[in-house]
Amino acid sequence: MSARDLRRLDQITWPEFRDRINRAVLIVPFGAVEQHGYHLPLGVDGQLPFHLALAAADQFPAIVAPPIWFGYKSQPRSGGGGRFPGTISLDGGTLTGIARDLVGDLLRQGQRSIVLLNGHMENTAFAAEGADLALRGRPDDGTKVVLINWWEHVGADVLDQLFPEGFPGWEAEHASLTETSLMAHFLPDLVLPDRLPAQDDYWPVPVYSVFPEPAGLVPESGVLYQAHAASADKGVRLAEHITAQIVEILRREFPQLAASPAH
Ligand code: ZN
Ligand code: MN
Repeated sequence: MSARDLRRLDQITWPEFRDRINRAVLIVPFGAVEQHGYHLPLGVDGQLPFHLALAAADQFPAIVAPPIWFGYKSQPRSGGGGRFPGTISLDGGTLTGIARDLVGDLLRQGQRSIVLLNGHMENTAFAAEGADLALRGRPDDGTKVVLINWWEHVGADVLDQLFPEGFPGWEAEHASLTETSLMAHFLPDLVLPDRLPAQDDYWPVPVYSVFPEPAGLVPESGVLYQAHAASADKGVRLAEHITAQIVEILRREFPQLAASPAH
């Protein structure tokens, strides 16, 4: 029997949540169920923001909601596409509705500080739209929703340091250097390095979209770039760096919460 994790919304009681309304930011991780190569599981995009949010909650008053595991349709130009078994996606309107409903219901309960922490590039516009629709027409009462894409807070200096062999850009960074390293840090049992193809490839991502999606836009493995250069040690460094960036955003955007107990 493991101890309750008081950072997690799914593990605390309703009076515990009530007592922390507006004394902690509520973080909702947004992910995707999407292929991540032969060596990573389908849930990477939800797991990473979930674990980054938990790490941030050690340094700033925050409650972490259960992740929204499903996301908007995976696109070949950002690493996936709908042609892999197990990539199961939502329509944009559905995801917008989920984001709007969650934000709206939190606002109804008086929670005014909300973060959407996103781990799947294709979700971005729909999470933004949901937040915007939930806030539309509200009085200016201090309510704030912040949308963070974790990968946008990894500095070029950190990438240079950790991956001197080169970084392909975030569109090609799918199941590759950063995602594999972070998974090796947070959830090492879910990483299967022996299933990586023997040779790393750089796969030029198409910078346009075709509908219906043709075959062959991404490699058979689903990995667009090197994953062999990933490691748990690099994952530690990345996780510390990204968590610090997230905490800095929380301190800047929600200064009124900084004095509350962490959990
Ligand atoms: Zn991913
Ligand atoms: Mn993704």
